[in-house]
Amino acid sequence: MTSTIVGIDLGTTNSEVAIVRAGRVEVIPVAPGARILPSVVGLADDGSLLVGETARNQYALHPERSVRSIKRRMGEYTSVQMAGKDYSPQEISAMILRRLREIAEAHIGETVSKAVITVPAYFSDAQRQATREAGEIAGLEVVRIINEPTAAALAYENCHSGARKALVYDLGGGTFDVSVVNLESDVVEVLASHGNNHLGGDDFDQKVVGFALDHLQKVHQVDARQDPLAMARLQRAAEAAKITLSDQPYATLSEEYLLEKDGVPIHLSVEISRAQYEELIEPYVAETLDALHVALSGAGLAVANINEILLVGGATRTPLVQRRLEEELGMQPRAEVDPDLCVAMGAAIQAAVIAGAQAPTVLVDVTPYTFGTSALEYFMGEMYPYCYVPLIRKNTPIPVSRSEAFCTIFDGQSKVDINVYQGEDPDALNNIEIGRFTIEGLRDAPAGNPLITTFSLDVNGILQVTSREKETGLQHSITIDNAINVKEPSLQAREYLTASGHGDRLS
Ligand code: ADP
Ligand code: MG
Repeated sequence: MTSTIVGIDLGTTNSEVAIVRAGRVEVIPVAPGARILPSVVGLADDGSLLVGETARNQYALHPERSVRSIKRRMGEYTSVQMAGKDYSPQEISAMILRRLREIAEAHIGETVSKAVITVPAYFSDAQRQATREAGEIAGLEVVRIINEPTAAALAYENCHSGARKALVYDLGGGTFDVSVVNLESDVVEVLASHGNNHLGGDDFDQKVVGFALDHLQKVHQVDARQDPLAMARLQRAAEAAKITLSDQPYATLSEEYLLEKDGVPIHLSVEISRAQYEELIEPYVAETLDALHVALSGAGLAVANINEILLVGGATRTPLVQRRLEEELGMQPRAEVDPDLCVAMGAAIQAAVIAGAQAPTVLVDVTPYTFGTSALEYFMGEMYPYCYVPLIRKNTPIPVSRSEAFCTIFDGQSKVDINVYQGEDPDALNNIEIGRFTIEGLRDAPAGNPLITTFSLDVNGILQVTSREKETGLQHSITIDNAINVKEPSLQAREYLTASGHGDRLS
């Protein structure tokens, strides 16, 4: 019996390990409920080795005994210090790989001695060699090094077939690359690659930290930058807020006793809207689009030659990234394979093929339709009340929940009609109306009173639509039972009114 070959995504920010078992691709949990291992190592007070989340937690307060982003150093003849001792980049990477190997061994109950490891397409021979060495130090024979965009394409391969060209847009924590790949039957070839290995989700976090610092300065006249513990907490809160803003129109950074000023405790509580956040990160997103055109011309291709865009890397969950890519390239990027996990999945698929198995397919439940609502917006040069606002796009993995903010139009407006549609047409009236309801009893407020509308679709095709007045929490919902197979639309909608989240069904 041949032993399992694992697939490893050894990332700058995060790493994952995956296997193929019984024809299925599995990303192995690194801790209960987590499949992502932060690529951080450290030495604790007592000298014990920390890898992953614990090391990441320690990093902000004890950078002198923690190491992160070691991938940027791979292939250099250098050493990094951790608690006063020198380590080569290979040795640090090996600590991550060894942890992943142990996690895989515990999961499958047998020793693991072989791996396929992914590297960025631009990695030089020296960087690839260093990655192999890291594997060896960790007790892994690296049976193949494959390019990350190739792995991502393999994870997507099942969904499509035939020759085509894809753009793999990979925005991670601290690195960005975009590659043009050619897919032909069993061969994936990287035609060109371009990027910036100092651009990623961490920069987005920094913008949110800056936003909070400005707020603290303005409202409390304090400068938190001198306080490492406060900065570490802000960093955490900023990343959490950023992730919330991928699905919600608002996020709150709230940290009690963040710091003290003249003996008085200062509590941070500040809200950031998605619109404010998008303005902060827009220049970074624009930079990635420029890089994309450089990669395209490097491959001697035009946008029209590209058949699909594959999204890779956690930061591609940012709605602005998806929106700007769609505007720029005129097609909806594909994101149905989890962008954090798809490189590891592709590595596992490659590993299975090397081991002699049939290439397995990645199965994901996606919605076959787009669902949305309508709003008053500019449409073909005029204000039009039925502009379609999609909330859940076709091919999004389910279950999914997405929210958007809408505002009242008139002063003193006490009710809003919410229409629910299925379809793609920018004119909502050309789509299928699958439900509608009215939220009544809004507070007496000037025009611009925000309401948050949430669409939640589960794996059984049950769509719940809720609209909530942001300031009061007043809300109203409907449930559409068979949203992905609607025949007689609104008859299937069950309505209920909720005052503050407790459902009192009306019909
Ligand atoms: P890498 O490949 O560089 O190791 P990842 O692909 O794991 O990195 O991406 C990590 C980045 O993705 C981090 O900056 C993290 O905050 C960001 N990220 C993760 N989930 C989301 C999300 N839902 N919305 C926006 N950013 C996210
Ligand atoms: Mg990555």
